[in-house]
Amino acid sequence: MDGLKNMMEEAVEYQLDKVLATMPNVCSCEECRLDMASFALNRLPAQYVRTDAGALFQKLNNSSQQAEVEVLTAVMSAINIISAHPNHHK
Ligand SMILES: [Zn+2]
Repeated sequence: MDGLKNMMEEAVEYQLDKVLATMPNVCSCEECRLDMASFALNRLPAQYVRTDAGALFQKLNNSSQQAEVEVLTAVMSAINIISAHPNHHK
């Protein structure tokens, strides 16, 4: 929807890139990354913010260490599950 953004998508993408960079044996092709991101995002609460002037303030307000740990946990299990059952050879 125009004017809305799920901040969780950015958080998941950021952690996914960070973790995959430390795991050279795990496939990080576009297919696998999309599978991992959707797996993690379906297990995390959405964090919708307006993309207008108020958005930056909300973004700063919402970031907490607790949320980061939850994102990392979801990303790790996504990597474990998707890398065990990759979908990229279709
Ligand atoms: Zn792959």
